[in-house]
Amino acid sequence: MLIISIAVTSSFFVYFKNNKRTEEISYTLFLQHLKSGIVKDVYLEDSPKLKIILNNDNEFLTDNPRTQEFKEELLMYDVNVIEKSQTASDVVMPLTILVSLAFMIFYFRKNMSKQAEREMESMSNIESINYDSRIGFKDVAGNEEAKASLEELVDFIKNPEIYKKFGVRLPRGVLLYGPPGTGKTLLAKAIAGEANVPYFPVNGSDFVQVYAGLGASRIRDLFKKAKEAEKSVIFIDEIDCIGKKRKGGNISGSEEGDRTLNALLAEMSGFKDNEGIIVVAATNRIDVLDEALLRPGRFDRQVEVELPDINARYKILKLHGENKPLDKDIDLKKLAAETVYFSGAKLENLMNEAAMYAIKSNSEAITNEHMDKAYYKVLVGDEKLDRSYIDNKDKEITAFHEAGHALIAKLVDKTNRVTKVSIIPSTKGVGGFSLNIPADKIYKTKKDLYSNIMIALGGRAAEEIVFGKENITTGASSDLEKATEIALSLVGSLGMDDEFGLLNLNVLMSRDIKEDNNLIIRTKEILEDLYKETIELLNGSRDKLEKISQELLIKETINEDDINRILEVNELTA
Ligand code: ADP
Ligand code: ZN
Repeated sequence: MLIISIAVTSSFFVYFKNNKRTEEISYTLFLQHLKSGIVKDVYLEDSPKLKIILNNDNEFLTDNPRTQEFKEELLMYDVNVIEKSQTASDVVMPLTILVSLAFMIFYFRKNMSKQAEREMESMSNIESINYDSRIGFKDVAGNEEAKASLEELVDFIKNPEIYKKFGVRLPRGVLLYGPPGTGKTLLAKAIAGEANVPYFPVNGSDFVQVYAGLGASRIRDLFKKAKEAEKSVIFIDEIDCIGKKRKGGNISGSEEGDRTLNALLAEMSGFKDNEGIIVVAATNRIDVLDEALLRPGRFDRQVEVELPDINARYKILKLHGENKPLDKDIDLKKLAAETVYFSGAKLENLMNEAAMYAIKSNSEAITNEHMDKAYYKVLVGDEKLDRSYIDNKDKEITAFHEAGHALIAKLVDKTNRVTKVSIIPSTKGVGGFSLNIPADKIYKTKKDLYSNIMIALGGRAAEEIVFGKENITTGASSDLEKATEIALSLVGSLGMDDEFGLLNLNVLMSRDIKEDNNLIIRTKEILEDLYKETIELLNGSRDKLEKISQELLIKETINEDDINRILEVNELTA
């Protein structure tokens, strides 16, 4: 580029220098000069004007007589005749400029289209991958719930005709969400493998392009290829790259992203029903996704892929240990217990590193020593180091806290179902979580609302009675938010509180009448009364609380059956 611009400027320079205005003299004056012998050179050419140079080096132009004898005449006057068909100054210079300009434009455009071409090309590289050594659900350990929910899809891809016959509308997109390394990619591969169809893996960042419209055209390209393959699985990893929540006012730059996202949505809506193509997307963060992606007909099936609990970790370790010689001293159950908060990818990495150490030390098999070394290697440089080394005290607090929620849920209403309690963090809760499904009914009674408040307070209450008032933790913050919310609406908008009466706060507020002081007092009273009641309830079932927590500490995740078993056994012995 530098060379070209230098060439252009210098040719401009030369051009203008050669074209400095030369004075014109009449032909008769020229003849006089000629006769007086002061003409040195004449540039003879086929142009209307001729350049002449006098002895004093002055330059003039004069008319070209264009006669045959002109040259002879000049020569007879002893003039130096310089013949050129075209002078450099008149033709060559502007030509140079033109050529370099043309070259410049050409170069630019070529470069641009080259870049675009390259990007296009990398897109055309979206090749389907057929798995010969097929990956199936057998290669995914743990994640039982996710697998169960995906199995149905496999059947749909295999036999879309049956679903069509029954007029079933099938999901087009499945969103797998959960922490990194939990096997989302693996699950997508497994779906394709189980259905025995081509698999098109892409990454959301592939569609974030510098050139306008390219992202969108890549999307169309991808779907075209998938359709050509007929039945297939498209896998879009890190979908958040293209599907981030759109902000109200469009900031420049996000427009291109919108175009890409719109192209994706259009392609997904454009599927003919029951084509046998499934789009699987993965993200670590479902909360940042644009809602448009989650609507029916798009990624309307959302499957959480969680960090493995102790049992799942054992299964994963076993799976990745299958093809490796393990020393008989290695206890995978124990290893599973020591790898709290490890993802599947990290466990796989652990096994792999251990094998490397074994090879390095010329060992016959992987021993505990190799495993220990690998354990520290996998942990080093891990930002969540302290998480993996989690304080046993923290685990205990989480266990009692979650057990408190679960136990209260069952104590306040027998028809409540507690389907899962875990001390492994997930998107449902930071420390752990307790999933309760309230009995199915249209209306909630005042008692139901009181119960829900107590369930929310159960975590904090358990912490207090087990570890003492001084040792309550920050773990209850979202619980308190929930409890306050319910209590506030109970008093302020549902007319369920005797003392506050039937007033609706929203109406009062809209009329700018403030009654909030009373409201706060009543809400606080309700929360405090219910908290006391929750504590009494837990104290009365302290043994059950301990049992649930102990089981949680051992298994990390317990299910409905476990809960019911613990509670029933206690009832029998009581
Ligand atoms: P994600 O897509 O959720 O980030 P991956 O599917 O890429 O995670 O997992 C990376 C690797 O970790 C997998 O190839 C596999 O070897 C291992 N892995 C992760 N989860 C599991 C699992 N549940 N069972 C077996 N291996 C797993
Ligand atoms: Zn809680």
